[in-house]
Amino acid sequence: MVGLARWSSAIAALVAIVITYRHWTHVNPTTVALTLLLFILSLAAKWGLRFAVVLSIAATACYNFFFLPPVGTFTIADPQNWLALFAFLGTSVLASRLSARIREEALDARTRQRELEILYGLSRELLQTENVAELLNVIPDQVASVGGASGVLLFLTEGDRIYQSPNPLRVPLDSSQLRGLAQLPSVTPLRDQAGCAVPLRAGVRPRGVLIVEGLTLSDDTLEAIGGLVSISIARAQALEAVTRSEAAKAGDRLRSVMLDSITHELRTPLTSIKASATMLLSSTPMAETDRLELLTVIDEESDRLNRLVAQSLEMAQLDTQEIHMGPTPQSVGDLVHRSLEACHDMLAGRDVKVTIPERLPQVEADSAWIQKVLSNLLENATKYSPSGQPIFISAEKRGEQVAVSVADRGIGIDPLDQALIFDKFYRARSNRQNVSGTGMGLAISRAILEAHHGTIEVTSQPGLGSVFTFALPLAP
Ligand code: ADP
Repeated sequence: MVGLARWSSAIAALVAIVITYRHWTHVNPTTVALTLLLFILSLAAKWGLRFAVVLSIAATACYNFFFLPPVGTFTIADPQNWLALFAFLGTSVLASRLSARIREEALDARTRQRELEILYGLSRELLQTENVAELLNVIPDQVASVGGASGVLLFLTEGDRIYQSPNPLRVPLDSSQLRGLAQLPSVTPLRDQAGCAVPLRAGVRPRGVLIVEGLTLSDDTLEAIGGLVSISIARAQALEAVTRSEAAKAGDRLRSVMLDSITHELRTPLTSIKASATMLLSSTPMAETDRLELLTVIDEESDRLNRLVAQSLEMAQLDTQEIHMGPTPQSVGDLVHRSLEACHDMLAGRDVKVTIPERLPQVEADSAWIQKVLSNLLENATKYSPSGQPIFISAEKRGEQVAVSVADRGIGIDPLDQALIFDKFYRARSNRQNVSGTGMGLAISRAILEAHHGTIEVTSQPGLGSVFTFALPLAP
């Protein structure tokens, strides 16, 4: 239909030129020839060589008949006019071919550009996903939406797995047919449907096949799409394997570190308890004060043991994300006051200065867990600063977060230790011997804040004191 319309309008335009120059404006034959040449050239540029060649022969005939003397016949009197006629025919055919070639090349470049855009878009989408199951589900949809295919099916030989785009193939294929298509050496058009099969390979081994319907791309591009799909699957599989083995290794490492540390940490209180109990049980007579001292040791050391076991368990649960946090909008002032109440006995006799602005926005926090962080920090501040020194609690809005600080004027932390005190069981060298502790409080606090998408950090000067600051996201 389009072809017919084009032919009729091209012929109508030729007739219009001839009539205009023949009956309305009288010009010399050169002007007519140039106008016709221009007309042929524009035809070649717009609609291609086919139109230009046929119309240039028709134009030559019209030129000869209507404009070259003797007018009204196909004979040419002057031999010079023969020359002019052939020059016209030659130029128009040659120029048409040239402009048609440029047109084809432009079309080619546009097609190549579109194909490159499809490949680029697809590679960006496919290489983003690192989870194999998710990737396999999105491949057909991505190929369909980025490439503009009407239906896409991905078949993997391993486990005969089939993944389809939201619009399924018009002619369904069963597993045995797909297994056969996966063995094809290269892109092959399918007979029953307007699509083609793109084999996927893992190295030289067939991995599966991609069936694409309603996508007109060159075989090279389809082959490249097949390569891209194979690479993205292989990449996701490799990444998953690495993550799994790293997680396993980290798990093993963690287990052995925990075990080492727990055994080591348990041994000290157990030794003290055992020694005190043995002495109490011995028949040697003992003063009442000594007896009381030994009982106090047993009491304190069993508390420490208890705490160590409880904290190790809590840490392990936080590590494996077994604990569910339910953050809700919380006022920082309330959190601080509730923690101060909980630490009332521990802080007895301490001067605690709280500075919290009145209009501080709420934070998104699990109240119980953040109170635990605050209690840990308050406990450390009391443990690692002289009892006569005050403790400062302050809070301020920092961008999209609220930062809460607990500061003391205590022994401070050596710069070398500052980076390590958030690790499990790590205790600074300066206080390891003389202050009792487990080295788990800050590790637990950090895990709690990470679960809240928050942060915790320390600034400290040995001998002057420490400031622990944690930040929580604002409530929406
Ligand atoms: P614990 O206090 O039970 O040892 P934490 O994990 O709470 O365990 O703290 C780890 C280490 O960080 C402590 O052993 C101590 O060396 C150091 N630390 C924590 N808070 C302070 C503080 N406010 N001042 C000085 N050192 C501190």
